[in-house]
Amino acid sequence: MLFIAKDTVLVRRPEYVNGLSLMWAGPFGGVLSPPPTTLFPKKLFLPCDACGISLEDCMDHVYACHPCNYMVHETCIYIPRIIRITRHPHRLSFTSSLSPGDFSCGVCRKTVDINYGQYSCTKGCHYAIHSKCATREDVWDSIDLEGVPEEPIEDEDIEPFVKIDENTIRHFSHDHHMKLHNNGTNGDHESMFCDACIFPIVPLDCFFSCMQCEFVLHEARACLPRKKYHPLHKHPLVLLPSPSEFYVFPPDFCVEGMFKCKECDQLGCGFVYECTDEDCVFELDVRCASINDPLVHECHRRDHPLFINMTKGECMRCKSIYNSSFFLECVKCNTFLCLTCTNVPCVTHYKHDSHPLTLCFGEEDARNLEYWCEICESKVDPKMWFYTCESCMITLHVTFLLGETMYLKSLHTVENYNDVEEEIVISRNCGSSRPDCNHCARRCVDALVFKCSGRYFCTLSCMNATRTGKAED
Ligand SMILES: [Zn+2]
Ligand SMILES: [Zn+2]
Ligand SMILES: [Zn+2]
Ligand SMILES: [Zn+2]
Ligand SMILES: [Zn+2]
Ligand SMILES: [Zn+2]
Ligand SMILES: [Zn+2]
Ligand SMILES: [Zn+2]
Repeated sequence: MLFIAKDTVLVRRPEYVNGLSLMWAGPFGGVLSPPPTTLFPKKLFLPCDACGISLEDCMDHVYACHPCNYMVHETCIYIPRIIRITRHPHRLSFTSSLSPGDFSCGVCRKTVDINYGQYSCTKGCHYAIHSKCATREDVWDSIDLEGVPEEPIEDEDIEPFVKIDENTIRHFSHDHHMKLHNNGTNGDHESMFCDACIFPIVPLDCFFSCMQCEFVLHEARACLPRKKYHPLHKHPLVLLPSPSEFYVFPPDFCVEGMFKCKECDQLGCGFVYECTDEDCVFELDVRCASINDPLVHECHRRDHPLFINMTKGECMRCKSIYNSSFFLECVKCNTFLCLTCTNVPCVTHYKHDSHPLTLCFGEEDARNLEYWCEICESKVDPKMWFYTCESCMITLHVTFLLGETMYLKSLHTVENYNDVEEEIVISRNCGSSRPDCNHCARRCVDALVFKCSGRYFCTLSCMNATRTGKAED
């Protein structure tokens, strides 16, 4: 009878569950028998045949079919047969056993025991997920696709641009034609920032620039798909040139064209992936959307890829668990890197240096090393991340070079749509004399400066504090 148990699938018959009698069906859909089923009031030290988790671990009731030697949690009776999750391009089906092989769960990365129920790819990929991991509330959209025909266009992307000729495109986000530059910029790269990711265009970057205005896009960002499935969100996402909603600073300050990424928690402008589900508010910046899973990050060993997991822990760079909502995890050493730190650009530029600056992830041997930050003139800890120019031998703190609000656009104008319409101008803080902040009275040292009703502010929080008459915290 054990043989039958492994080849059978559970038929969802809730009416029988209450009567303590489950129905079994063979792989070809025929009902084999309605065997007697018993509800166990006691906890058992055995794994659930549907999810592999111990039957004593859950608060669930346990159902057993004695002739089939099959025991499951009550919640596992209702496990869906066919699902689709954003972590895999194909549909997944529930199977009670897999053909032999090593599988690590696509969600928690732990080993999947092929003898218990799990989800595997319907198209035959070497891919498996624990049934409990696949049906997590934040992983699965709660839609059982059994009997739902697969849409043929499901995986097709709408092209992000039309090719005009070899080097010219018309991007969906912009009205003018754009030209490809293959070998980065020559000289005047300081003022160029990609309008999708707000990262600077640095030498050797390939990018498209508008033939009529200042609009620029990294080549890779211009190719971003207009529809995307992202592992950290359970619904499909669409790419928009700017967010469809206002960003609201408490209590009532609405700004256009700005949003907070739900994964790294950073405020930014530029392209945004928004959720297509009408009951769901989810905005994702293109920097987070472009992180590979797994990712080999230069700050960590090459043979230790970092995974986009649903786990959290102290970030190896910023030592905090609050800088981002999500983290990458090295499952080999159980260390974490928050998404904010993951996105710190490896190459950037500094207005007083003609060479690009590279990110250094801390010196191995920091003895006898003394580094000083060019901007704030205080010490740089050589064991931490910092920017350096090899040619000029200078070092800079990452936060001082990039600024607190590094993903806001310079010269970007946002308007307040409340009772009074106000204009805010965000500009690069690069004039010869730096203004004093109208709120905290300190000199504005960040990369950006905010101007509102003729007054200057060093940060958005200072500006907002003045507007709301609140003391700075
Ligand atoms: Zn179970
Ligand atoms: Zn798992
Ligand atoms: Zn597949
Ligand atoms: Zn243009
Ligand atoms: Zn983000
Ligand atoms: Zn959503
Ligand atoms: Zn961090
Ligand atoms: Zn590691």
